[in-house]
Amino acid sequence: MKTDTHQVPQGEGKGRTIVLTLVMAVITVVMFSQGKMPQDPKEMIALVLTLLFANTLFFLLLYTGRTDRYRAIYFSTFAVSLIISFVSHMFEARGSMSLSETKILQCEVPFCHLVIPMTLVPMAITKTIIFPGSLLGKYASIASMFVIWIGATLALGRGFCSWVCFYGGLDDGFSRVLKRPVIRNINPKWIYLPFAVLLLVALTAAVYLSPVYCSWLCPFKAVTEFQAVTSTKILIQTIIFVGLFIGLVIVLPILTKKRTQCAFLCPFGAMQSLTNKINVFDVRIDKEKCVKCKRCIQVCPTLSMSEESLEQGCARITCMKCGKCIDNCPKGAISYHIKGTDIPGKRNAYRLLFLFAAFLFLAIFSSHIIQDGIVRVLKLITTGSMIS
Ligand code: SF4
Ligand code: SF4
Repeated sequence: MKTDTHQVPQGEGKGRTIVLTLVMAVITVVMFSQGKMPQDPKEMIALVLTLLFANTLFFLLLYTGRTDRYRAIYFSTFAVSLIISFVSHMFEARGSMSLSETKILQCEVPFCHLVIPMTLVPMAITKTIIFPGSLLGKYASIASMFVIWIGATLALGRGFCSWVCFYGGLDDGFSRVLKRPVIRNINPKWIYLPFAVLLLVALTAAVYLSPVYCSWLCPFKAVTEFQAVTSTKILIQTIIFVGLFIGLVIVLPILTKKRTQCAFLCPFGAMQSLTNKINVFDVRIDKEKCVKCKRCIQVCPTLSMSEESLEQGCARITCMKCGKCIDNCPKGAISYHIKGTDIPGKRNAYRLLFLFAAFLFLAIFSSHIIQDGIVRVLKLITTGSMIS
């Protein structure tokens, strides 16, 4: 059956878009610059470019109504900048990407939010944090990551995975390489695997008092830091990291057009899905407008839309609030929504509230990483090296 592919973007009028972009511009100028103008010309260029980039995308996102398109451009740029910035930082601090036993013993390992599900149970039982990172240090400290996680989770629930996560922009970006998927029929039961992984890593972390997912399963080790290969065990771990990165973050997202790492493995993502239960925002379907074309089911990168969702009028608990189904619905039947309220009345206000909060989190959380990424690239162009 031929489906109606005419799209109904939910863009704003010029006036409202300009006012909201100006508000965003004022906040981002203050937050990105931290109240002072950089003296270094490269830092100044990076600040101006990041401000222009963020505010142009925010304007386009509101004006055109293409939430997912402009979110994804920013989100993927953030993930690439993180790799550039992180790896350069590691070379400056340690001389390589590899993590030595000494640094682990000295607790000089940057903390990453993916470790949070493995720290909660041991923390409750032993009152200690089972990660060799610094609690209050300058670079990715445990305290700062917990504060960001709690704030973003309260505001966005699993929206964290499409608007805040360091790494989500990688499989998100690769899932857009092809126009059409090569692999189409994916069993929807795969969405339960991350919950099993979550249970497994939380229990094993409690038993062994060690962040098991980081040691054995994290694909992002391949592009951030990993232990120097000095034994067969570390060699096996390294092969797993690289294999998972190539498979789940690059190849499968390209072939399926799904975010396979985030949707089918990540235990942090599973935990964030549970937080969707307490978050005020969800993604709703107006059943009166819906013509059951199933376009939203086809495009959802996390299999969070199903025929059951269409019947119930809301996305599944695993929804990352990316906006892709909203952009693609030919009838404009899907929208961000505040739980416990009626759909038609204040629909646009809910949407604006969600988008403003989500974009602000993304912009503030990523700004220093994107700026540092730009500075590193400028250094590479002018001196031939990204590191100081
Ligand atoms: S909600 Fe989904 S099935 Fe209904 S019209 Fe929109 S894209 Fe089609
Ligand atoms: S249901 Fe819609 S908003 Fe949620 S993850 Fe799928 S495409 Fe994104």
